[in-house]
Amino acid sequence: MYSKIVILNFPSEVAQKALVCQLTKKYDLMFNILRADISNKREGFMVLEISSPAKADFKKGVEFLKTHGVSISHPEHQIFKDEEICTHCGACTAVCPTEALYIQRPEMEVIFDKKKCSVCELCILTCPTRAMGLFSKTGEEVS
Ligand code: SF4
Ligand code: SF4
Repeated sequence: MYSKIVILNFPSEVAQKALVCQLTKKYDLMFNILRADISNKREGFMVLEISSPAKADFKKGVEFLKTHGVSISHPEHQIFKDEEICTHCGACTAVCPTEALYIQRPEMEVIFDKKKCSVCELCILTCPTRAMGLFSKTGEEVS
């Protein structure tokens, strides 16, 4: 299964169209909306995890969105977890919308699965020890 997190930016003229639903109908793609701010007649965005049995179908779906005026980007930053600072208190697991942070039992360790992270940054705001941070894809820490 091919899976990728993408950010869709909708110009106001297409914000009211049900383009994302067409991904399933036309290309058999599955999607999970991780974050969204979109409404009729104004610009909006969605952070989607799109999954597909074949990468080729994923590409066709992305092309379909682009031809309808949706611009697509990938998260510019990545989240990291500093294992030396983390106390495994579990606070971040309560706010993580994608289950990228979860408690592994019976060890009760908090595990970070980077592949599931949507870079929503909620864990950074929640972590009492500042173990969660943000860095750019060039490796530079940004918060
Ligand atoms: S909130 Fe911070 S200290 Fe607590 S488990 Fe998550 S990363 Fe570790
Ligand atoms: S940024 Fe933090 S809270 Fe948001 S999806 Fe990634 S790990 Fe979860």
